[in-house]
Amino acid sequence: MRSIYLDNNATTRVDPEVVEAMLPFFTDQFGNPSSTHAFGSSVGVAVRKARQQLQALIGAEFDYEIAFTSGGTESDTTAILSALEVMPERREIVTSAVEHPAVLTLCAHLEMSRGVKVHRIPVDQHGRLDLDAYKAALTAHVAIVSLMWANNETGTIFPVVQLAAQAKLVGALFHTDAVQAVGKIPIDLKSTAIDMLSLSSHKLHGPKGIGALYVKRGVRFRSLIKGGHQERGRRAGTENTPGIVGLGKAAELATKFMDDENTRVKALRDRLEKGVLQRVPDTFVTGDPLERLPNTANIAFEHAEGGGMLRLLNHHGIACSSGSACSSGSLESSHVLRAMSIPQTAAQGTVRFSFSRDNGEEDVDRVLEVMPGIVEEMRDTPRPKARAEDHNPDKGE
Ligand code: PLP
Repeated sequence: MRSIYLDNNATTRVDPEVVEAMLPFFTDQFGNPSSTHAFGSSVGVAVRKARQQLQALIGAEFDYEIAFTSGGTESDTTAILSALEVMPERREIVTSAVEHPAVLTLCAHLEMSRGVKVHRIPVDQHGRLDLDAYKAALTAHVAIVSLMWANNETGTIFPVVQLAAQAKLVGALFHTDAVQAVGKIPIDLKSTAIDMLSLSSHKLHGPKGIGALYVKRGVRFRSLIKGGHQERGRRAGTENTPGIVGLGKAAELATKFMDDENTRVKALRDRLEKGVLQRVPDTFVTGDPLERLPNTANIAFEHAEGGGMLRLLNHHGIACSSGSACSSGSLESSHVLRAMSIPQTAAQGTVRFSFSRDNGEEDVDRVLEVMPGIVEEMRDTPRPKARAEDHNPDKGE
């Protein structure tokens, strides 16, 4: 049976060209980029090249605005803690109800442990930010606004360029978790008021355990990890050079192919959505119908159960994820779907299909072939049937 991978918002396959670019940095090119001898300096050159490849992908003005980190979670944590440190007189954070746990769990921790006030801006039924509530939360007490560029579950895109401009009016720093956006939609930071941006390599066909934090020139900043002077003092520790080179190559490929890939991937995604809605009654697509990542389809199947559908899809060799999981014997939908007020009967039956350049029409055809039977079977099955270990984007993908 052919395996079909439609869980690219969880992680992506490392591109063979990326692997090839990385390999010498496990063997001959093993030097420490901080060393001044030839072994080190040639690796230093490769790290600089990777920074420039990333600069091109996100439209940063200067390559040194990019600091390599271990991934999206570290970048998010660094940005938020840095803002609180450089502006100790400001004790409030503005974020949204639908952020990734990398941001929401940290905010809850800061609320409990440091008494920081956190504004979690609500969203509407399409996952769009409540702009009035956002404006009302913006005061001179806010140290940082942290809003995601695109949502990992629904693909809904927030208007971060406009939101950043508004944050500036009250002197707050603006950070965006762009882990799901970078490499999927065009980004040009130099023309924006965005101060910091997080990205993660494994979402754009690069290796895991490497990411970056963009910090605009002139923005006051405190490193999270203290130690040596690597990354211009913004992230101590000897650099993960194979990972950095891999991320650089992945960024180069994304820059080169993004336009063509997006058109192709969006056509696959749209065909899947249309086909499923035609074949399966009582289903709808969640997320913003207009402003949505081209690769993401989050479909709610009324009166079916997400975990069970995933198991049956997996049985057919199809990998995707669900916005519900079983917690203490009852079905629980993700915080994103709850924030969108998706009725429980639909939220517990959501399946996220996320595409990449590795997918083709035959993948869509196969899903369309099996999905009606799977949903029918689930609707005939008494609920809840999910197991606690069911795959749920709320767990942090
Ligand atoms: N933010 C978003 C929106 C994500 O989808 C992810 C993915 O897991 C993360 C942050 C965390 O990134 P990482 O896995 O690199 O820590």
